[in-house]
Amino acid sequence: MTLLDRAIARTLPLVPKPIVRRVANRYIAGETVDEALRVVAGLNERGIRATLDILGEHIHNLDQARQAVSGYTTLLDSINKRKLDSTISIKLTQLGLKVDREACFELAAQVVRHAQDVKNFVRIDMEDSSCTTETLEIYRRLRRGYSNVGIVVQAYLRRTVDDVDALQDLRPNYRLCKGVYLEPREISYRDMRVINRNYVTLLEKMLSSGSYVGIATHDELMVWEALRIIRELKLPTSAYEFQMLLGVDEQLRDIIKAGGHNLRVYIPFGRDWYAYSVRRLRENPRLAGYVFKAMFK
Ligand SMILES: Cc1cc2nc3c(=O)[nH]c(=O)nc-3n(C[C@H](O)[C@H](O)[C@H](O)COP(=O)(O)OP(=O)(O)OC[C@H]3O[C@@H](n4cnc5c(N)ncnc54)[C@H](O)[C@@H]3O)c2cc1C
Repeated sequence: MTLLDRAIARTLPLVPKPIVRRVANRYIAGETVDEALRVVAGLNERGIRATLDILGEHIHNLDQARQAVSGYTTLLDSINKRKLDSTISIKLTQLGLKVDREACFELAAQVVRHAQDVKNFVRIDMEDSSCTTETLEIYRRLRRGYSNVGIVVQAYLRRTVDDVDALQDLRPNYRLCKGVYLEPREISYRDMRVINRNYVTLLEKMLSSGSYVGIATHDELMVWEALRIIRELKLPTSAYEFQMLLGVDEQLRDIIKAGGHNLRVYIPFGRDWYAYSVRRLRENPRLAGYVFKAMFK
């Protein structure tokens, strides 16, 4: 990222929302279920799997959480009816984690149960560090009753290696990512070289202990390391998949797919697009160019 890109990333909250929206369009599949399912169908036709995220997080009351659950159960039915290859990804703060933890667990269980009924799978996204312990606890409780639920861990957190050790008895279905929230140095690595080393250490640990891993990255070095580990462990393609975000590095996506590996694209959609868009834009190395173009269009 250039200095200008970094400066704009820091001042994104000052950029008018319509401009943010225009620049972030590439990352979001629209506002409605129909729009999102059209994107899924297009990817499926090219042999690419999907996972759908209904945008929204940090809701303020349980009615909003129940609405989110209803959105997800309807979505699961639509995926099933249209025979699409897509799982769902949920955020526990959207199901009331910060409002009532027990209710959140019950609501998450409702989604996972419904997914089980329609033979689908639920991935629990990992949010900022104020949610990590509770998210892992809820995941562990869900696994007592269900196997169609997976978890995300973040390589930038200092605690993750211990979390993965502690979860080993569950042989979780993981998504491994670097992590996207702004966290204090006391609990997170800041140096990208360390984050990358940790990513590789975690991936090796997960794959060699028999966990299925969604290798979520657009970093060619991490993809290279993953392929090295997969080759060394002689893993079949059914033991892992690569995962990428909608709108990011489609060329790398095609290269991975052409190599014969399974690939899943994370597809967010919905009206609550702002927080997700800002997180994505902060990571875009060509942010300044995009913002200026959108301003003068
Ligand atoms: C499928 C998926 C699910 C995720 N789920 C979570 C989650 O639950 N919790 C969480 O904290 N994080 C999640 N993330 C985000 C992740 O933590 C990183 O923030 C993000 O993927 C960037 O890390 P990277 O591995 O691509 O490496 P980086 O080193 O950040 O990026 C590598 C290269 O990718 C390109 N790139 C990355 N981001 C962008 C962008 N937005 N626009 C344009 N180019 C870009 C750039 O060329 C960059 O140089 C997820 C990521 C993926 C792919």
